[in-house]
Amino acid sequence: MKSILFLSGKGGTGKTSLAGAFAVLSKNKVLVDCDVDAANLHLLLDPRIEEEGEFQGSSEAVKDNSKCIKCGECRRVCRFHAIDEQFNIDPYLCEGCGACVYVCPTDAITLRPRVSGQWYTATSRLGPLASAELYPGEETSGKLVTLVKQKAHTLANEVQAERLVIDGSPGIGCPVIASATGASAVILVTEPSLSGLHDLERILSVVTHFRIPAYLVVNKFDLNEKMTEQVEAFAAEKGLKVIGRIPYDADVPRRMIEGKSVVEDEHSPAGVAMRKIYARFQEELR
Ligand code: SF4
Ligand code: SF4
Repeated sequence: MKSILFLSGKGGTGKTSLAGAFAVLSKNKVLVDCDVDAANLHLLLDPRIEEEGEFQGSSEAVKDNSKCIKCGECRRVCRFHAIDEQFNIDPYLCEGCGACVYVCPTDAITLRPRVSGQWYTATSRLGPLASAELYPGEETSGKLVTLVKQKAHTLANEVQAERLVIDGSPGIGCPVIASATGASAVILVTEPSLSGLHDLERILSVVTHFRIPAYLVVNKFDLNEKMTEQVEAFAAEKGLKVIGRIPYDADVPRRMIEGKSVVEDEHSPAGVAMRKIYARFQEELR
């Protein structure tokens, strides 16, 4: 089974639109949304949830007031300023480091698991889906991505899928590294701007580290053709194969709001370009 991962240096570059196009065009696949901070692949899929659960990605300190002698040791050691002058613990500031548990002379504080998000698996109009949502302010997205990928592999085994189509997280942080682990190929999506080029440089360093075959797509290339050439020249210098350009097409967000991919519209310029990219990528896999 091949895992095809879509990444971009930042959000809003068209990564999910292209992943959605591959979701339409790929056969016998499982769809995976690893963008757990802002999952939106489901907008194209009309999913029906089959299984769901809580994600306990971190811990928080809780105090038993009846045991507290107000010695202040916990407040002294808390580096996150989560304990106030009355020695109450603010759950939003607590990072679950456990230092207060260690120093408390009366064992008044314990750590308990904290629910940091939700995961689900679903059937959808384009195939099985695994997805998740990390709650705002939580920082354990890498662990949640790993969990979503495990759920996706279970689904893939059940339906004997030949491909995982994975919408990754933007950026270069922990969730991206968790998404990239074990990927068969990465398609990087960028826009023709200076910031797009810098983002590409950063994300490419992550992909290169994992030695994953990588391909580049320039989205909205016609908004700045000179910059597109500069981005493609950078790719050539780094040995990154360009497998296509997508023109600006106002229909892309409109179709997404309608719950469709532009590749389902044969007259959409962006949809036509995405079909060509898909065909080229299939050639590359041979
Ligand atoms: S260290 Fe324990 S006993 Fe001391 S103030 Fe904190 S909770 Fe209370
Ligand atoms: S677990 Fe760590 S962050 Fe949370 S209150 Fe205790 S010392 Fe502070």
